[in-house]
Formats: sequence, C-alpha cells, structure tokens
Amino acid sequence: MIELRRIVEGPMLIDELMSKHTSYGIGGPAKAYITPKNTFDLANILQFAKKHNIPTYFVGSGSNLLVSDDGIDGLVITLGKSLKDLKIIESTVYAESGVMLGKLVKECINRNLSGIESLVGVPGTLGGALVMNAGAFGGEISNCLINVSSMNMFGEIKKYNKNDINFSYRSSTFPKNEIIISAKFKLIKSDKDTVNLKKLDASGGRKATQPLKFRSAGSVFKNPTTGHAAGYYIDQAGLKGTKVGDAEISPIHANFFVNHGNAKANDIIELIKIAKKTVKEKFGVLLELELKTLGFKSGTFKV
Ligand SMILES: Cc1cc2nc3c(=O)[nH]c(=O)nc-3n(C[C@H](O)[C@H](O)[C@H](O)COP(=O)(O)OP(=O)(O)OC[C@H]3O[C@@H](n4cnc5c(N)ncnc54)[C@H](O)[C@@H]3O)c2cc1C
Repeated sequence: MIELRRIVEGPMLIDELMSKHTSYGIGGPAKAYITPKNTFDLANILQFAKKHNIPTYFVGSGSNLLVSDDGIDGLVITLGKSLKDLKIIESTVYAESGVMLGKLVKECINRNLSGIESLVGVPGTLGGALVMNAGAFGGEISNCLINVSSMNMFGEIKKYNKNDINFSYRSSTFPKNEIIISAKFKLIKSDKDTVNLKKLDASGGRKATQPLKFRSAGSVFKNPTTGHAAGYYIDQAGLKGTKVGDAEISPIHANFFVNHGNAKANDIIELIKIAKKTVKEKFGVLLELELKTLGFKSGTFKV
C-alpha cells in the first residue's frame, strides 16, 4: 500500500469504511478507497493492481450496492468525484462516467432533449447507470446510447458501440475487469411541454411509491420476467414491515429494504433470505437480486 500511495495522485483512503460510500450506509472497510485524479492516474493504478495481483473493484456512488460488514479485501476505485466532464452539442451528449445521472438528465431536460427524462430521480453516476442499464417508468439509459469508452487493467482504452454490449432489464454485458470512463448519447430534439410532462410523470410516480425518506439501495430484487413485480409477491406474502435489527422491508414499497440508522449488511441479508424463501414457498417464484454485492463469501445469499 505504501508503494501504491506513492503513485496515486488522487485521494486514497486506507481502511475506509464503505458505509460512508453506499446509499444504504452499510459496509465495512475497503483496503483502499481511491478516486483517481484523471485517466492517467487511473491507468497507473490499474497497471499497479494488475502487476501486484491486488483484487480491484469498481463502484460509482454506491446506490445499488450491499457491502459486507467485514469489508472488502482489495482496492475500491470510484470515478464519482473525478471524471465529471459533460458536453452537449445540439442533441449529442458526451459525458464522463463520474457525472451524476441526475445532472445529466437535468441538463438534457433543460435543452428539451428527450430520451432519458423518465430517469429523473434515479441516484448514482453515469458509470453505474450504464452497468446496471438503469431504467424507470419505461425508459432505460441504453436507449439513446451510441458508444462507451472503458479502461482495462493494462491501462488501455477500449471502445464499445452500443451493439457490442447486450443490454437487458437491469443488466449489461460490459467486461467485469474494465472500468467505464465515458459515453456518448444521441437524444431526440423535442419541446418543453412534452419533455416536462414525461419528467413530471416519472418524478410523481417515484414520490408516490418509494420510501425516499430512508436509506436504501432502491429495488432489492429484479422483477420476475413473467407474472407480477417482485414487490407484489413480497407484499402478498405479508412481509411488509418485517424487521431484522435496524433494517426493514418497507411498508411503503415491499421491494425496498430500508436502513433505519444502524442496520448491518447481515440484517439486510436476513431480510433477503426471508423474502426469497417465503415468496418461493408461497408462489413458486425465485427472486433474483438486483442489488450488487461486494465482499461476501459465495453462498451467502442462498436459502
Ligand atoms: C432511492 C433509490 C431509488 C432507485 N431507483 C432506481 C430506479 O428507478 N431505476 C434503477 O435502475 N435503479 C434505481 N436505483 C438503483 C441505483 O440508483 C442504480 O442502479 C444506479 O444506476 C447505480 O449507480 P451507482 O453509480 O450508484 O453505481 P454503484 O451502486 O456504485 O455500482 C453499481 C454497479 O455498477 C458497477 N460500476 C459502477 N461504476 C462503474 C464504472 N465506472 N465502471 C465499471 N463498473 C461500474 C459496480 O461495480 C456495480 O456492479 C435506486 C436506488 C435508490 C437508492
């Protein structure tokens, strides 16, 4: 770590609690939490990690992450506070992956550009949104995508056209050992009223259905491909309001598990297991995690 510190130009926090970097407010220490200063710094860090075989994980702003209470035995790299360039020329948008999705959506709405306005209110960075293929109220981030640049562990820039990547519901096939650094989008010129109406529909729907006052990571499970939404099954299984420690299956939205202040990853895991087991027993439906998990032993989430 001392040798790594010598080469890192951006902030490098040793034994940094991931609870400070997740929307859940949960997670033990990462060996180092690094915000590279720029792409040169990033390339040096990735090459160092590769050369020394140090496990390396990429995160955005942690709004879809459950991190183990035991922490992460490796480097955690985020571009969330460094790569934030955003350029909009007519209807073409170029953004670095650390740009907050909310800012990107707002800037497009302000220019009457249509295509991503239904994503208003989705937390997180552009990088996280691309990996998750973030979506809401009928729109997905991949809809208007042209291409993406990433960096591999050798510090080389790779470029992918939209068709090189499979995007599906809350999923993409970006290589796991590359970090997304920027993306280009082509939006549709529209008019103020149309864009605003879509935005208001989405933000109204979100406020009406989600427990936004408490810490969460959004939906815990993906909606099954057939039948009902995951939240419907959890609700019908009578699990709304179920508590383990300081974690609760939200009484407002059964697919949101909230942290009332001092919840641990283990509390959320217990709730995940209760929901999976009960929904499987009652409805024969196997719920699949939408949350991304870091630092857990394999089999942790099995019921
Ligand atoms: C209140 C609330 C509401 C939400 N509503 C929605 C919603 O309506 N729709 C929706 O889709 N999601 C929703 N989410 C989930 C979350 O906001 C999205 O998944 C978001 O896109 C995650 O972005 P992030 O930057 O926080 O990524 P993180 O949570 O930090 O990471 C998510 C995944 O992306 C990877 N990753 C992140 N950045 C990079 C990068 N630069 N390069 C490579 N890999 C990277 C991580 O390794 C991880 O696998 C909600 C969350 C909350 C808390």
